[in-house]
Amino acid sequence: MTDWHSLTTEDCLKQLDSRSEGLGTEEATGRLERYGPNRLPQARRRGPLLRFALQFHNVLLYVMLVASVIAALLGHWIDAWVIFAAVLVNAVIGFIQEGKAEAALESIRRMLTARATVLRDGQRQEIDASELVPGDVVLLASGDKVPADLRLLQVQNLRAEEAALTGESLAVEKTAAAVAPDAPLGDRFGMAYSGTLVVYGQARGLVVNTGSCTELGRINTLLGSVPTISTPLLRQIDRFGRWLAVAILLIVVVTFALGTLWRGYDASEMLMISIALTAAAIPEGLPAIITVMLALGVQRMARQQAIIRRLPAVETLGSVTVICSDKTGTLTRNEMTVQRVIASHGSYDVGGVGYAPEGGFVFADQGVVPGEQHPLLAKVARAGVLCNDARLLQRDGLWSVEGDPTEGALLVLAGKGGLDAGEEQRRWQRIDSIPFESEHRFMATLNRSEEQRLIYLKGAPERILDACDRQWESDGGYHPIDRAYWLRMANDTAGRGLRLLALAEKAAGPEQHGLAFEDIEQGGFTLLALVGIIDPPRSEAIAAVAECHAAGIQVKMITGDHADTARAIGEQLGIGLGKQPLTGADIEQMDEQRLREVVLEVDVFARASPEHKLRLVEAMQGCGQVVAMTGDGVNDAPALKRADVGVAMGNKGTEAAKEAGDMVLTDDNFATIGTAVREGRAIYDNLKKSILFILPTNGGQVLIVIAAILFQLALPLTPVQVLWINMVTSCTLALALAAEPAERGIMQRPPRPPAEPILTGFFVWRVIMVSILMMAGGLSLFLWELDRDTSLETARTMVVNVIVVGEMFYLISTRYLFASVLNRQGLLGNRWVLVSLAACGLLQLLYTYAPPMQQLFGSAGLSAEEWLRVVLAGAVVLVGAETEKWLIRRFGRQAKTPGGHQRPARDSRM
Ligand code: ATP
Repeated sequence: MTDWHSLTTEDCLKQLDSRSEGLGTEEATGRLERYGPNRLPQARRRGPLLRFALQFHNVLLYVMLVASVIAALLGHWIDAWVIFAAVLVNAVIGFIQEGKAEAALESIRRMLTARATVLRDGQRQEIDASELVPGDVVLLASGDKVPADLRLLQVQNLRAEEAALTGESLAVEKTAAAVAPDAPLGDRFGMAYSGTLVVYGQARGLVVNTGSCTELGRINTLLGSVPTISTPLLRQIDRFGRWLAVAILLIVVVTFALGTLWRGYDASEMLMISIALTAAAIPEGLPAIITVMLALGVQRMARQQAIIRRLPAVETLGSVTVICSDKTGTLTRNEMTVQRVIASHGSYDVGGVGYAPEGGFVFADQGVVPGEQHPLLAKVARAGVLCNDARLLQRDGLWSVEGDPTEGALLVLAGKGGLDAGEEQRRWQRIDSIPFESEHRFMATLNRSEEQRLIYLKGAPERILDACDRQWESDGGYHPIDRAYWLRMANDTAGRGLRLLALAEKAAGPEQHGLAFEDIEQGGFTLLALVGIIDPPRSEAIAAVAECHAAGIQVKMITGDHADTARAIGEQLGIGLGKQPLTGADIEQMDEQRLREVVLEVDVFARASPEHKLRLVEAMQGCGQVVAMTGDGVNDAPALKRADVGVAMGNKGTEAAKEAGDMVLTDDNFATIGTAVREGRAIYDNLKKSILFILPTNGGQVLIVIAAILFQLALPLTPVQVLWINMVTSCTLALALAAEPAERGIMQRPPRPPAEPILTGFFVWRVIMVSILMMAGGLSLFLWELDRDTSLETARTMVVNVIVVGEMFYLISTRYLFASVLNRQGLLGNRWVLVSLAACGLLQLLYTYAPPMQQLFGSAGLSAEEWLRVVLAGAVVLVGAETEKWLIRRFGRQAKTPGGHQRPARDSRM
């Protein structure tokens, strides 16, 4: 094993047969075959046996298993077997569904593969991190996750956080120097290790180890932990299950006591009745259905560009009350074009749109050409090209920018001025640079030509003005700076929604080799010009903001841009209309208390840095808000983690931000957050609907059995019949609700209060009401049939069918919580409902007529007339449920929705 950290960079390059310009593509491909992909072995999933066994680990199933044993002891072998089979079938379905759900989540996770920037054939390229090979030269920037073990070749203020390896959460300053061979991991400053995070600066590093040969691979920290499927709602349901188990046992014991002591039933007969009761009351299928619904929802969201990294976020999304969004690239298109160049003697308008370097300059209403008469333009163009890390590319006639679009706009500006960027960059070699960070809002480079050395500085005007004591004028001379003039011009330009950059330069001594913050702080710069860049709002974001407002969600814009730019763009988007923005400096003046007082009143926060984001999230949460927050930089990670839903940008976001986020937007688009909220609400609705659907089946059956005991009737349902009903309805009908589209008006109601329990008072009422309807239909038909001397088998078959038919009607009715379903859309609107009704109907025919079923379940064939009575009795549920909804719509204007909040009076759907 080579001690790479103790070798000089030249030795490392030599040993790996590489150069500081990187490998050639062919060589890299060859090495990839030799060394294998740069990937860690997958964390081992739980084995299938264990996963299957865990399916039985559920209080309700324990109760069922006990019931099965009791039935066996009493000699009721068929009942014992059927109960056991029901448990088994449930476990198998749970096992399959969970497997599918896990696979779905896993595949979504795989969409988020890490990327790395390498030098191949001397060119910068972005590739999949798994394609890295030893000898590759990787470029690191702040926010990157180090993709392999690297020996650092060149370092600019690089700081890495190595907690993943060393447990030390303070970032370590890196250098390119070798250290002693026996230096501990944390002291090997010349190395950057796979899995650690770059929190500051830039570097160029040589890949020395990949995949499981990396330090991370060696200490065997397996990445990509196994997805666990759990959310607050699932936990709530788990608790509900335990609570239900206790309640069921209690009811069973009481009924048993009543039956034997009061009604004089025989103990063994009463035991069987109790078992029927137990089987009737347990909603076995519920957990599996909820898991499937979540997984399907997450897949649907992924198709709409929102990748959920943490499952609970799906539910939280539905209750989000505030969305805080970055501006650049999320609300705007991030297609920057310089529109104005402001000099000391007036301003130039720049023509053309997009990244094509075509367009002219207009000064005082006259077209002008950069050059002799307008030397400033040439100077600005050169500064913009040299103090720049972006690249302008033309592929198939289309122009695009690689790197920061703000910098790309400067390259385009230079192109329009006729400057050859490549030529200029060769003539003025860069010696050192301070990269742009949103904390300090500037970038500086030190360049050298044959004659002189210059420091170029560009950034937010306030920052740059502070460093300037002179300005460059059209007479070619240097004059004292007129701050008031520049500030006025900056405010005026920003007020038009343009993003601002100031450009400045300063001569450096021939002995200067490096650039430090002091060079900027010392001042002495000459201001060349201000540049105004347009970045138009995304049209879909404007619609999405309006949709969020209608949905009772506040939208806040938090940006690093100038306050006036932010306000102007905000106005175009419909954010913060007529309100003053708050700046980062204002926020700093406020204590927590004061910030909480104002935070909900302000919609635009400008010149804000990542720490301000964190304080804003905390303040909003302090006001009881549920906050979604977007972010892209490494410093946004704390705010993303703190937010209720952290939203990271998939394109321009750093790995650090993606790891901190709960959700990743693959298109960086604000509108996608709106879509995700909508989906989140729909998924939650459907979960509620499925619970609302399943519980009354159990309730109705329980009531029937209890009534039979109280009135000393023959049991209208045997245990095995009860199980059949539960299986049939949850396997077919309940699943259809997972495909239920969002109700109309879902984005016109206020967010769901996060602490709201799933079983609100209204919910409980509805479960009880439908249970009673179900019981009424089933029991009255049973009594009527017995009265007409119908055989017990036939009567029971009819009760089973009444309940299933009642459930079929109820499924249609549950599709809308309040709106009537007695219309085309309501009855036929969800294809899956129709499919599941058909499947369920077929199974019932099988149950009624197939001889083996008749033997197993004691069912008997029915005549057409009997079917008619069954359907009529089942329809009681539809009539009753629709009448209740009608009454609520008619008289219950103030009625609470199951969401627990006021229902908009005229919205008929929800
Ligand atoms: P957000 O994405 O949060 O809406 P932003 O991206 O507009 O904000 P920053 O990138 O932090 O905000 O930029 C803040 C300011 O820094 C800009 O208004 C601009 O003046 C300056 N700036 C932006 N990019 C660069 C750059 N590459 N070099 C120098 N200065 C820059």
